[in-house]
Amino acid sequence: MTVSDKSSNITKLKVEPTIIPRDQHTISRTAISDAALKVLYRLKNAEYKAYLVGGGVRDILLGREPKDFDVVTDAEPEQIRELFRNCRLIGRRFRLAHVRFGPEIIEVSTFRAPHHVSDQGEGRVEDGRIIRDNVYGDIDDDVWRRDFTVNALFYNIKDFSIVDYVGGVKDLEEGQLKLIGDPSQRYVEDPVRMLRAVRFAAKLGLRIHPEAEKPISQHAELLKEIPPARLFEEMLKLFMGGCALETFEKLRHYNLFQYLFPQTDHLLDSHEKDYPHAFIMQALKNTDLRLSEGNTVTPAFLIAAFLWEPMRTVADDHIANGLSEMEAVQLAGDTIISRQIASLSIPRRFTHMARDIWSLQVRLKRIKKRSFRVLMHPKFRAAYDFLLLRAEAGESLGELVEYWTKEQLAEPLIGQEKIKSGNHKPRSRSRPRGRRNKPTDS
Ligand code: ATP
Ligand code: MG
Repeated sequence: MTVSDKSSNITKLKVEPTIIPRDQHTISRTAISDAALKVLYRLKNAEYKAYLVGGGVRDILLGREPKDFDVVTDAEPEQIRELFRNCRLIGRRFRLAHVRFGPEIIEVSTFRAPHHVSDQGEGRVEDGRIIRDNVYGDIDDDVWRRDFTVNALFYNIKDFSIVDYVGGVKDLEEGQLKLIGDPSQRYVEDPVRMLRAVRFAAKLGLRIHPEAEKPISQHAELLKEIPPARLFEEMLKLFMGGCALETFEKLRHYNLFQYLFPQTDHLLDSHEKDYPHAFIMQALKNTDLRLSEGNTVTPAFLIAAFLWEPMRTVADDHIANGLSEMEAVQLAGDTIISRQIASLSIPRRFTHMARDIWSLQVRLKRIKKRSFRVLMHPKFRAAYDFLLLRAEAGESLGELVEYWTKEQLAEPLIGQEKIKSGNHKPRSRSRPRGRRNKPTDS
């Protein structure tokens, strides 16, 4: 039976779920973090319903280690807070609880009824009124607001069964990414779901179902309306998740990359087979490699890489008009970054670092006047890695790479900040001595 819910465009489906008992699925409690288990059990012991949901369930079923765990319950935020000392309520529109255990945060949300609004934003304006979205429901309401069938599986802590309303288990087995409900409508409600589709397809090796694939080209442009800050958060998930290269290729394939980095996309279109493309591919490859080796990466490095060629194009014009190379790079950097943040905002600490990396590329060219100060620059290491990246991507840099490799080996790296950007293992030739550099903004 289907019931049309007047308050939303979504048709609420009254369907019976498939319950998969403990002995017929592969989710074992050993695959769930202690923190998530504590949350689930405490809710259950207080007589609330409690389920693991989303990526945690999906990834364990796929035999992967989940990035984090999301819990959903019928306890309301205040009731959740009463149960956990280490709990903070967040979100204005949808209040949910963050329960912290050391570095791990378990996100606990209350079952919600579906709405035809995005998961971000300021609520829905209807007849001039702002409708509050804290409308709680039960599991059979909550399931329909979720994006993909594989993200809508609930693991019930009460009997360790999986509750599947949407055929998510079968879709996982078949490697399919299907939207719940009408794909077109779901993208219109929240265009970020198009980016999520690409992310999950790249990361999990799932195929975007043709029905979910088809409307992407029609609705892609709606991404222009997403607040730049939200796009930044999404960008981090897209490129800092270990599958940056694959994700980038898929984003380009679906013409979605242009909404994240319009200037880069434009340039790539005119130089598809050339250096700019090779350069970005190499940057993404290095990022994935570093993450797979357990190293950290900074978004600033990737941002510097994405915007490098657009910046250089503008800088070249300035140089042709008589500016010095350093002036040209700085001015072009300002222009490119201010255009960039109109669509995808970037916190200042990252744009500062990107600018430093670019300016240092100019300073690294002056090898005859090697300055101790260049080696001492807190972003020298990132800039050096950037130089290597340029060389790896096929740019002919003469003796620069060799020169700076030798220089930094010869000099104790006083006060260098921890290496996090490029593709080299840190060298620990000497302990930092002297005055420590001020903490930088990266
Ligand atoms: P991961 O955490 O591995 O990136 P995830 O699926 O857990 O993937 P989250 O962003 O943590 O993604 O969201 C948790 C769950 O919340 C999702 O699995 C999905 O059910 C729901 N969800 C998140 N964002 C949306 C959205 N934009 N539209 C609909 N449902 C969403
Ligand atoms: Mg998650």
